[in-house]
Formats: sequence, structure tokens, C-alpha cells
Amino acid sequence: MIAFDLACDCGFQFEGWFVDREDFVRQQENRQVLCPQCGCASVRKILSPVAYQKKCFSADTGISADKPSTSVHAGDLLNTAQEVLKNVQEIVEKNFEDVGVKFAQKALKMHYGVEEPRNIRGVVSSDEEKLLKSEGIALLKVPMLKQEDDKKH
Ligand SMILES: [Zn+2]
Repeated sequence: MIAFDLACDCGFQFEGWFVDREDFVRQQENRQVLCPQCGCASVRKILSPVAYQKKCFSADTGISADKPSTSVHAGDLLNTAQEVLKNVQEIVEKNFEDVGVKFAQKALKMHYGVEEPRNIRGVVSSDEEKLLKSEGIALLKVPMLKQEDDKKH
């Protein structure tokens, strides 16, 4: 199963679960993906705000995978998930150069050896994402929790 962030023309945003990407595309083409708010089929996939190259994202990034796992209460699950996400985010922010909307351009240049390979993060449109995937460039998308903080820097 795969989850996509979806948005309707009415402005409502929700999460849709599909068997896989093709399942979503097929359902969208058949106008079977309906907005739970207004019931219309003008639903499109929205981007997770951040994508970065998987390359070099190795085990020595500092994530303590072997952190002693205490028993997790159901109510704590969300907090735990947010903490993990925060860790990932910090690592990304520290180790990945923010190239913003030039992500696809940079990734392609690195892919073809025009630019020095390095860890980058940034934003991609769905078209760019498709292009990168067709070029065999691996992307990893992570949701960013603290957009607000970033603006203060
Ligand atoms: Zn709607």
C-alpha cells in the first residue's frame, strides 16, 4: 500500500491509500478518486515538500537505530513517529545542501557528471520527479515538520 497527499479543487486536502502508484493513476484517470469534502473528482496529488537523493545516506548518519526500544503505548506512537521524523530532518538539514527548486536540475547534472556528486535536498514538481525516476535517479521524500523555524534563519 502507498499513501499520497491529495488535494481537491475545493481546497480540501486529504490522504489517499492505493495499492501502488499505478493504482492511483488508473483511479484518477477513471475519476474514481473522489474528494471526501465535496465529492468531486477534481483531485490531484500534491508534493511532499522535500525530496533528496538517497545516495550516500548510509548507516553512519547518526540515527541511533539501535536505540533501546522501550515498550510503546498506542498514544505515544505519533510522538515517536514525529521524533524519528525530526531526527531524519535534522540529518537532512545538516548534511544535505539545500538547492531548493533547482533540485531536479542539480540532480541531473550530478547524474551526468557535470557537477561534483554531493548530497542535496530541495523541491521537485511531479513532472520533475517523473523525469528523475526515468533517468534512474533515486529520490527519497520526507515530510518536513518545522517549516516555520526555517524561515527564522
Ligand atoms: Zn473537494
